Order: sequence, then C-alpha cells, then structure tokens
Amino acid sequence: MTNSEQKIRLLMELRTAGITDTRVLSAIERLPRELFVSEMFGDQAYDNTALPIAHGQTISQPYVVVFMTQALDLSPRMKVLEIGTGSGYQTAVLAQLCRRVYTIERYPSLLHEAEQRFAELRLNNVTAIAGDGYKGWPEQALFPRIIVTAAAPEIPPSLVDQLDVGGIMIVPVGGQLGQEILRVEKTETGIETEELLPVRFVPLVKGIAREG
Ligand code: SAH
Repeated sequence: MTNSEQKIRLLMELRTAGITDTRVLSAIERLPRELFVSEMFGDQAYDNTALPIAHGQTISQPYVVVFMTQALDLSPRMKVLEIGTGSGYQTAVLAQLCRRVYTIERYPSLLHEAEQRFAELRLNNVTAIAGDGYKGWPEQALFPRIIVTAAAPEIPPSLVDQLDVGGIMIVPVGGQLGQEILRVEKTETGIETEELLPVRFVPLVKGIAREG
C-alpha cells in the first residue's frame, strides 16, 4: 500500500472509532505523518499506534491525537498552549485549527527536530521553546485552551492558573498503573473535571532535560 492508501485506511479507522469532527480529520488528512516518525518505522507511519521517537519518548497514537484535539473544541481565533512537543505531530494538527500554538518540550534536541518539520510544512503559527512545561508559559498567559501530551501525577496548578475562566485543558493524569485523559474546565470559583478516556502516556517530568 502507498502512503496515501494507508492514510485513507487510517482515516476510515478513526471514523469507525467514533471521531466525527471533520475539521480534525481533514487536518490529519493533510499531514504527512511519515515526516514525524523515524525512518525505521516509516512503514508504520499510518498504523493507529504510538511509535518510539528519541530519548525514550513516543509519538502519540493517531486515535489519541484526534480524540484530544476534538475534546479541545478549538475555534480558528484561539491560541493554544501545548506541553510536550515531542515529534511535533500533535502540534501540527493543532496549528491547522487555531490561530497560534505555543508549545514547550523539555528535550532541546526533540524540539529542534520538531521545529525543522514545522518549517518544512510552512506551519508559521507555531512558537516553540525548550523548557519545563509543568510551569507553563506565564509570559503568554492566559490561554483559552491548554493540552498536555504527557501524563501528569496531578492536574498541574500553574497550568490551571494560566487558563482563562471558561477555558478548557485536556490533560492525561495518573501514574504507571493507570491514567485518564481529563477535561478540566476553569470556572469563576475553581475547576470542573470530567474523565474522558483511559490512556498510557510517557510521564510529565519536571525540569528541562540535560542532553549529551
Ligand atoms: N505530542 C507528542 C507526544 C510526545 S511524548 C507527539 O505526538 O509526538 C510527550 C513529550 O512530553 C515528550 O517529548 C517529553 O519529553 C515531553 N515532556 C515531558 N515532561 C515535560 C515537561 N515538564 N515539559 C515539557 N515537555 C515535557
């Protein structure tokens, strides 16, 4: 099967799995996922599975990417904060659906590779930094939407602080034994949370990574 045939098969699988948001599906359709996975896994780029990237991290499963994106309920004028750039695939999906994505990755080398992909795809509305996403991005706050793509031990308080009232954060929370994607909505008085989907993510780790 060619890449485009495999991509069509993946889109059909996502629809069968209950993904209905056509804007999210179109974003997947436009992106070459093979660009985001290492050459070794090129033939699996359109399988509905997570795949390893450098530093023991993973590019998320396509179903989880579209599920989280759909749950974010984006509109084109919004800015979004993403924690855990990784390969940049989730970032690239978001960039097609909102005004600007601010994304933070704790491995500078992963960030650098992701930035090269954004440039190659001419995604000019992505601002990326290496840093500790656990602390968020206070200079750019507040955000109407925040997405975390690594599992946090608890809902990160600084990210709640950086969310608009009425804003939504999608964040996997839990440890080795089990994690749930939560939808966190900020209210005038606090937060309301809802469990959406059991998942397995790599952990959100505090501090920037030292490499080499
Ligand atoms: N959305 C990415 C998922 C990558 S895995 C993709 O689809 O490719 C999660 C990423 O979160 C990893 O790259 C990991 O290094 C990063 N991460 C973990 N803790 C972090 C933190 N505190 N700040 C920023 N990034 C973090």
